[in-house]
Amino acid sequence: MLMVVQKRMKMKDYAYKIDAHDRIIAISPDWVNFAEANQASVLSRTVLGSSLWSHLYGPEITLIFETLLRRVRHENRTLTFPFRCDSPGKRRYMQMMMRPLADHAVEFVSTLLREEPRDEVALLNPATQRDDRFIVMCAWCKKVKTPEWVEVEEAIIRLRLFAQPFLPHITHGVCPSCKDTVLNQDD
Ligand SMILES: [Zn+2]
Repeated sequence: MLMVVQKRMKMKDYAYKIDAHDRIIAISPDWVNFAEANQASVLSRTVLGSSLWSHLYGPEITLIFETLLRRVRHENRTLTFPFRCDSPGKRRYMQMMMRPLADHAVEFVSTLLREEPRDEVALLNPATQRDDRFIVMCAWCKKVKTPEWVEVEEAIIRLRLFAQPFLPHITHGVCPSCKDTVLNQDD
């Protein structure tokens, strides 16, 4: 989910649809452009027909998506929640909407709300060399567990990750605050 793009803020919709079997059956042109601008060109070419679950990381995130999808399909609800889709040099504040369609299909629409430039964060650059350590990042807000959940810049200070030749790998989880926001929303 590393992404860059556009300087000027435009309300673009990065959308995809899944069928009743959770297969990705449509992706919007904006989504493809977005992915291709962001080192995810392989993903955009192979994503159609693939399972949603092959793109999600870890049991905790899977469980949350299962819960959300159940709510969208069986309660026929549209859910909206905030998330971050940062790149090394940008904080990107996004909103995701999950909308029920006919025949248990579901549409996911991600909208860029705003972005802030920042000093490049090497920890978020896929090209950075890694050692055998792991840190956990919240898949929604991109905070890092230190054990308190803090912004990545603060985590680098707390975990003394500045000026190291190798950095830890990043795994994804969900912080308590996002778990609460995502799972306990009223629309
Ligand atoms: Zn979070």
